[in-house]
Amino acid sequence: MTMQEVAPGLWRLPLQRLDSINVYLLGDVLVDSGMRWAAGRLLRALEGRTIVAHAVTHAHFDHQGATHAVCERLAVPLYCGAGDRAALETGDLTRVLPRSRPLLALLSRRLGGPAHLVDRTLRDGDEVGGFTVIETPGHTPGHLAFWRESDGALVLGDVLFHRNPLTMRRALQEPFRMATLDPSRNRESARRLAELGPSVVCFGHGPPLRDGERFAEFVSSLPRD
Ligand SMILES: [Zn+2]
Repeated sequence: MTMQEVAPGLWRLPLQRLDSINVYLLGDVLVDSGMRWAAGRLLRALEGRTIVAHAVTHAHFDHQGATHAVCERLAVPLYCGAGDRAALETGDLTRVLPRSRPLLALLSRRLGGPAHLVDRTLRDGDEVGGFTVIETPGHTPGHLAFWRESDGALVLGDVLFHRNPLTMRRALQEPFRMATLDPSRNRESARRLAELGPSVVCFGHGPPLRDGERFAEFVSSLPRD
């Protein structure tokens, strides 16, 4: 498991085969933590690095699984969006999932991490690790993206996938509908991000995309409803 520097001060750590799950370092801030059982590997990969805070893009089990372990072991504060705070603090991740998804609820209990108190709720315009917070609700109510205007680097969590983490097929796509609370609001968030004109886009699932035009084209092809 090796860190890759995507842009100056922006590191990507693929936690699973074929970068199906990524976490990122924005300067000295860890964004997302993968699934619970990868906590040991993640902590080993972070050895020797200075981490001052941990933020999650959203409270799904493949993004907060090792969050409690990371915050405890590294003694760092936890940041998240307002709408996902209760899910993180209770450990009940079904709060940010569509209703009647028993399989996802089961996976959340098995693969998600325990509850952890949030130290700071992030809002539009806050600064984290040299990036600006952008609230991107839809996939979950408190979903966050991180944007750096100086070089057009964007970390967008699950607003879009660049690899299907189940089939491993690499392609731009919307996140799984079964796990998305409000798909049309998520598209609005994607359009807001596309308007920024990013030059490199980093995803929770899949490799970075260094083709801003392709990103913009894909987002503009999303249906409006
Ligand atoms: Zn995800």
